[in-house]
Amino acid sequence: MDKVFELIQREKNRQNSTIELIASENFVSENVLKAAGSCLTNKYAEGYPAKRYYGGCQFVDEVEELARKRICEIYGAEHANVQPHSGAQANTAVYLALLQHGDKVLGMSLADGGHLTHGHPLNFSGINYEFYSYGVSKETETIDYEEYKKKVEEIKPKLVVAGASAYSRIIDFEFMAKVAHDNGALFMVDMAHIAGLVAAGVHPSPFPYADIVTTTTHKTLRGPRGGVIMMGKDFPNPWGKKTPKGEIKMMSQLLDSAVFPGIQGGPLEHVIAAKAVAFGEILQPEFKEYAKQVQKNAAVLAQALIDRGFTIVSGGTDNHSMLVDLRSKYPDLTGKVAEKALVSADITVNKNMVPFDSRSAFQTSGIRLGTPAITTRGAKEDLMLEIAEMIETVLSNVDNEEVIAQVRARVNETMKKYPLFAY
Ligand code: PLP
Repeated sequence: MDKVFELIQREKNRQNSTIELIASENFVSENVLKAAGSCLTNKYAEGYPAKRYYGGCQFVDEVEELARKRICEIYGAEHANVQPHSGAQANTAVYLALLQHGDKVLGMSLADGGHLTHGHPLNFSGINYEFYSYGVSKETETIDYEEYKKKVEEIKPKLVVAGASAYSRIIDFEFMAKVAHDNGALFMVDMAHIAGLVAAGVHPSPFPYADIVTTTTHKTLRGPRGGVIMMGKDFPNPWGKKTPKGEIKMMSQLLDSAVFPGIQGGPLEHVIAAKAVAFGEILQPEFKEYAKQVQKNAAVLAQALIDRGFTIVSGGTDNHSMLVDLRSKYPDLTGKVAEKALVSADITVNKNMVPFDSRSAFQTSGIRLGTPAITTRGAKEDLMLEIAEMIETVLSNVDNEEVIAQVRARVNETMKKYPLFAY
């Protein structure tokens, strides 16, 4: 057997026996996995359904149309492009469609929870555009909307980006959009983290307010790795760009051509098929129950940690995730060491900076936790209480291999009750 399959088997065992708390991960269904591993990987299909540069696309055309139709139905969107290979690709395409090199953009500060593609100096976004940032207030650790407004008014960005990778509170999309629009900016929401909660209607939707919405498909949406760009309502591009026939191009046309041929070649039709399957699952009533439980589990886990003396950034969570600020309970413990100790106990988390962190992004003073993956395995509130207890035990004993081994054994035993792979 190829070494790769041996490694895949070992990864499967790891996923099966550990508690997965990485907020951006999830476990897809057997059908999503089947579609992603299907013969569609063999097909070249540059272009869009019915407008391809290759023959033999009749079936992948239907697959891609299904994916587009389903995601539009989920969010009540008018337009969707399901081809971006990832969340970063989706954002890249939006910037390419909307911005010129050097244009001003305002996004959430990375130190306060924003994503790399929202202007990190080493990311294409920060390299190509003039990014400014808004952040959270020191007192509440929630977005400082007054400061945001001031920045929009001062900077006059061409585009405002809302959305985050590590922010546990509801974002006031309505307010942010109004300020952006009042100041001549377009308003984009990258809802990668919360997309599944929005789809299920358990979190406010950005669609009524955002000009453009991007998402990944593999986090709370529980689909394959990938990205999507959507518009609640299409509109003529505000810069008057015209088609060869002299008509003003719609924004959807600019976005589509930014994806292909702008930044990508052939779409991953096997992944698009897996997206379509996942979107079909989201349209089932069970998904709403799942999303509700994700939220409930996160709230219970956050409270259980608070009860054990941990500090949760902003005091709690409204969504699937939370940031634990380790400084109050363990002043000398870095996120890096905490992550390592928890991973040794088979509790998978990631280190994360907390707002106004005194440590670097490599050390950090926090860890980020999320409940989408563990909830897919059937976890309810009782397991959250156990997890909080185990996290405390490990973090109080980061140098004690015996205690860590005891927790690991307990984790492995516990996860047998939540089987993951029937396949
Ligand atoms: N946007 C946000 C808010 C994210 O959190 C992430 C990934 O974590 C992305 C975009 C990028 O997604 P990908 O890793 O698929 O490129």
